[in-house]
Amino acid sequence: MSRIKSPRNKCYICGAPANETVTTQTIPDRVELQAPVCDDCKQKMMEGHNMTRGEILQSAINKWGADAQMGVLIEECAELIQAVSKIKRGEGARDDWDNFAEELADVQIMIDQMRLIVGPGTVDNWEERKLSRLERRLGTTEGGDTP
Ligand SMILES: [Mg+2]
Ligand SMILES: [Zn+2]
Repeated sequence: MSRIKSPRNKCYICGAPANETVTTQTIPDRVELQAPVCDDCKQKMMEGHNMTRGEILQSAINKWGADAQMGVLIEECAELIQAVSKIKRGEGARDDWDNFAEELADVQIMIDQMRLIVGPGTVDNWEERKLSRLERRLGTTEGGDTP
């Protein structure tokens, strides 16, 4: 795991000036650290405010930094490759399918963080182009490689 990069004195959730730190452990067994947090976000935490999906993803980037999250992406991709390989190799035991589902979720979460880092618009553009291409290929007898 690479070094943690979190801007000091900036709230790890919203980026506003932070007066305090909180002990956080968002990714179990990975790191525990004192993350800077602003008064508003601290208040929301104490009120049990649940972050939106987007807030959670952006907070992870703010807290650990893009470089660290790219490292996590690599790890999760490797786990997903292992999970799908196991299913293709074996008989697809119930546990294997459940593990596959778990790893898909892990990778989806990392992909969505990468989208925020790279710029969601850029990824959306590519996705549109890829889907159009796929659609065209579905309409022809071209066959060939799977996308
Ligand atoms: Mg995983
Ligand atoms: Zn904040």
